[in-house]
Amino acid sequence: MLYGIFGYPIGHSLSPLMHNTAFAHHGIEAVYLPFAVDPPHLEMAVKAIVALQLGGVNVTIPHKQAVLAWMDELSPEARLIGAVNTIHLQDGRLHGYNTDGIGFLRAIEEAGNDVAGRTVMLLGAGGAARAIAVQLCLSGIRRLLLANRTSTRAEELAAFLKQNISHADISVVAMEASSLAAHLPDTDIVVNATSIGMHAHDPMLLPSTVVSSQHLVCDIVYRPLHTPLLRAAQGQGARTVDGLGMLLHQGAKAFEIWTGQAFPSALIRTRLLEAVVEQPATSAPPQQE
Ligand code: NAP
Repeated sequence: MLYGIFGYPIGHSLSPLMHNTAFAHHGIEAVYLPFAVDPPHLEMAVKAIVALQLGGVNVTIPHKQAVLAWMDELSPEARLIGAVNTIHLQDGRLHGYNTDGIGFLRAIEEAGNDVAGRTVMLLGAGGAARAIAVQLCLSGIRRLLLANRTSTRAEELAAFLKQNISHADISVVAMEASSLAAHLPDTDIVVNATSIGMHAHDPMLLPSTVVSSQHLVCDIVYRPLHTPLLRAAQGQGARTVDGLGMLLHQGAKAFEIWTGQAFPSALIRTRLLEAVVEQPATSAPPQQE
């Protein structure tokens, strides 16, 4: 059986490493390949999943939104997020899922944290932030504080969440150090879902001195693994969760959808750590799954 990932460009993806390791671990006769799908060819590529009877594919930048048009069924998360990162061919029909938010949630639960009843400060309003925001609102958080450099994007996301997830309590806060600092005493969990932290000279998003041991600080950037935000938070006694967990668990959920089998998570994390160390941030192309 053939599986793969559609993106453009795609050479940097860690998904082939994860899924081929998992297939080998379970003795499943399958191979997972990266496909560089030029946007004008996306429709043909999606139809080829049916024509060639692929088991399933992951979808990444820039195709996550566009593939929605050709799905026969959508999971509730994919519908709300407005993006698909996992396609499963079942009985000739294309089922679209989004496992990014679930992957994030599993990563922080795996580290012994619970989001129910918590106040979460989410930095960012791009594709990853939207997936995380939807999942958090579906998972019983008390309050979501949204901050983004372009405040109109945060406001649009907040309006969408309020309209579509009735119980969500959401506020937009300014992405300025003083404003973020003022809200931190009432915050339990801080999540960086911007691309800040990938580059050596990136600014600090929030003053590290206002983070304390009451906080869980999560970064979804995984190159570098120990981002300046996470290092500063650890220095203040905060608990932290790095971005590798989200990468691993979004893949785990996709693998479960396709095969019904569990991802060998410990083995995959070891392989991912080796790959991330081999390709540090300075030499790696932009990360994305
Ligand atoms: P995206 O849709 O392009 O969104 C980028 C976000 O970063 C936006 O909120 C943007 O703000 C913000 N941003 C970019 N440059 C900034 C700057 N100089 N100052 C302040 N904010 C800035 O990207 P995405 O898909 O959401 O991905 C975001 C990050 O998460 C990337 O680093 C990506 O590699 C990582 N990621 C990790 C995983 C994982 O599995 N761990 C999964 C997906 C993504 P504006 O709206 O103002 O531009």
